[in-house]
Amino acid sequence: MTVSWWCADVATSSLPFPSLLYFLSMHPEQSQHHEIEPHLLAAFISTFILRQDAYARQQVDGTYVAVRKPLTSALLEQHFNGRVTLGTYALDAMSMARWICLDADTDTQAIRLLEMTERITEAGIPFYRERSRRGFHLWFFFQQPLTGILARRFIQQLLVEHGVDAKQCGDKPLEIYPRQVQLVGDGLGSLVRLPLGVHRKTGKIYPFVDQNDKPLANTPRELLPIVSKPDYVPLPSLLAVISRSSQPVVEQPTPAFRTNPLANLKDRQPSERILAAISTLDFVREYVALDAYHRGHCPFHDDEHKSFNVVESGNYWNCFAGCGGGNLIHFWSKWRAEHGQDGSFVDTVRDLLHILNI
Ligand SMILES: [Zn+2]
Repeated sequence: MTVSWWCADVATSSLPFPSLLYFLSMHPEQSQHHEIEPHLLAAFISTFILRQDAYARQQVDGTYVAVRKPLTSALLEQHFNGRVTLGTYALDAMSMARWICLDADTDTQAIRLLEMTERITEAGIPFYRERSRRGFHLWFFFQQPLTGILARRFIQQLLVEHGVDAKQCGDKPLEIYPRQVQLVGDGLGSLVRLPLGVHRKTGKIYPFVDQNDKPLANTPRELLPIVSKPDYVPLPSLLAVISRSSQPVVEQPTPAFRTNPLANLKDRQPSERILAAISTLDFVREYVALDAYHRGHCPFHDDEHKSFNVVESGNYWNCFAGCGGGNLIHFWSKWRAEHGQDGSFVDTVRDLLHILNI
């Protein structure tokens, strides 16, 4: 009997799962073997999981909720046996990355990235392709943790050199995880579905595949050792690509803001002048499309719902999915960090004074 487990739909509605084919190989002598060997679990953790003080849990609609509790091996076991599905954060608490994941979820993005993979294979840069709900994830692994800034510079330069415009790839931007170069405040940043888990919306486990779209292993169990100890981007290649990149430039569609004359009171603190100059709503709406209720798609996470809103009476914005909130200075700090620039308070305020021309 051959079972392609990733094709076999798992009834997500009928939890708990029957002791599933997922984690069992087709060999009868192993079929009682539910537990994962500790060394494999450790390798998987060190490859994919950057923080153990928090995790994300996928819900049936495919979205995630952040859980600020330790990620235990028992939970991971549940992820592997399909009882829960975890998301993994792309930056650790120090804003370091250990992998990059590109999310190709349109045909155009998939085609462009597949073209790129052919060429980077020749250049000796290893990557892993994991099928996903709408396309695939393209993973690059680093042997040593890398700052979010350098990790994103590496991938952005690689994309540029292979003709992929991440900002306008098909009809939407290509998502790069980590989406931020650094975490702001106590935010957790962006996340990706942790491999080998059941997608709660489709009920499928997605395999890692080769260039012919053939799974790298016959079962998730057999795939685990392969993805847990992946080939890393060689350090010389990594550094060479980064060294060819120019400093990231934040694109600033600088609208002509109408500011309140009070903002020109030079004896006030710069941050006070900024907040006096313009409301959070009037500033933010230049960057985020807001409806009549001042709601919109959050610019800080992959938002299928309108999780983002601005509360006019309170002069603040908020993302219900956990990206945070605050006034327009917080917004711009986060925006800058998302676009590859320094999100520190000092730099953000200086930039705002310039943008608002006050
Ligand atoms: Zn958000």
